[in-house]
Amino acid sequence: MMINLKNLTISKARGHLIKGDFKAVELAQSYLDRIEETDQDINAYLEIFSDVLSQAESADRKIAKKEGGLLSGIPLAIKDNILIKGRKCSASSKILADYVAPYDSTVARKLKDTGAVFLGRTNMDEFAMGGSTENSAFGPTKNPHDLSRVPGGSSGGSAAAVASGEALASLGSDTGGSVRQPASFCGVVGLKPTYGSVSRYGLIAMGSSLDQIGPITKTAADAEIIFNAIKGKDIMDSTTIETADLKTADSKNIRIGVPTGFVENEGIDEAVLKNFNDSLEKFKSMGYEVKDINLPNVKYSLAVYYTIMPAEVSSNMARFDGMRYGLHISGKNLIDDYFLTREAGLGKEVRRRIILGAYVLSSGYYDAYYNKANFVRTLIKNDYAEAFRNVDIIATPTAPSPAFKIGEKSDNPLEMYLSDMFTTPANIAGIPAISLPSGFKAGAKNLPLGIQLMSNYGREDILFGAGKDFLGE
Ligand code: GLN
Repeated sequence: MMINLKNLTISKARGHLIKGDFKAVELAQSYLDRIEETDQDINAYLEIFSDVLSQAESADRKIAKKEGGLLSGIPLAIKDNILIKGRKCSASSKILADYVAPYDSTVARKLKDTGAVFLGRTNMDEFAMGGSTENSAFGPTKNPHDLSRVPGGSSGGSAAAVASGEALASLGSDTGGSVRQPASFCGVVGLKPTYGSVSRYGLIAMGSSLDQIGPITKTAADAEIIFNAIKGKDIMDSTTIETADLKTADSKNIRIGVPTGFVENEGIDEAVLKNFNDSLEKFKSMGYEVKDINLPNVKYSLAVYYTIMPAEVSSNMARFDGMRYGLHISGKNLIDDYFLTREAGLGKEVRRRIILGAYVLSSGYYDAYYNKANFVRTLIKNDYAEAFRNVDIIATPTAPSPAFKIGEKSDNPLEMYLSDMFTTPANIAGIPAISLPSGFKAGAKNLPLGIQLMSNYGREDILFGAGKDFLGE
């Protein structure tokens, strides 16, 4: 049978699978056909798994016996920095090109337990460092809405896969916006959960105090389903916290705060600002209260992020020395091996961040940079704590511009970093944030835009509630 993938969501597919309208194998085959047809243009996937149909068959057997979990037979795409036992996991880097995961990440294990079908692993910026997927060692991913543009990053493959109908939903990781910004560029939903609500065990680390795994989906309801499937305390990640099972929050009496002074800066595209204000009007018309708030220190987020993140990157990347994982190039002696392997295996942006991080952590500059940034991090957290006494949601655009052209910013790292101005604060504070598709740039149907909603720790329920109101599902 022909399954119409275009408007299919997890919730609908689940209903069809249970009713027997189609089988998981047929659904999986439809996605494989779609991938075959479109992925040569988009390059969302690094690999399509060879056992997709047998995964789906086993889901069908469970569904028939009424044993299936919540995601039984649901085809998902997984970012290539999330370990799935026995499968390659390269983080889109040459240094890990042939690395095979020896164990399951906690999220992969949880998704398997609930019956999900893994279609393949998606392209990304190398080690999740970037905002366009151009830093992949395996070629860029293209934006499904306009093949001359980037899909955003670093989870660009995961967002493009969902937007192009090559997966029903996907997982990404978000250190400074890598789930939300590509979701916004591709016109889909992306959630960065509260820090600690989803286990990082088996996620290739970038900035450990900032990283969270999150879903990319077509609807807020689907993001909620995946979040509920992957969240929870995990003994393998000591930073995880117990998460309450919250019902979707009631939209009555929800107050949205807008940090107007922060949003209206010279770096923001006029069309983005207009779309953002229109989205706020829509929330008002649905009964939400919208008011101005002040977050005095949040403007320092980008500087804080690009100090703390590289420091953590430089430390996390030390393990890729050619001895323990992946690529190994032999030289005259051990030190030579390190140099040769890292030079051949790591791309330019990764090396830039290792150098930057080693610098901000060096004894002469530690206080001036790393310590100072940590101090300001506390001020930013305090701004949010103060604001959440008076509002339930804080809204900004997700990104200051729509998807840019491939090559437009790749020679100018600073320009690329500015694209993260609205997304990094939530990682710095550890609060949850969701990007919702908010329409298109006026007069440009190929350029989707997104609105970002943030809430207090553990209050993803408020984001799902507002997301469902805004999108209708
Ligand atoms: N674009 C940001 C960066 O380059 C965010 C990356 C991420 O969230 N992994 O660091």
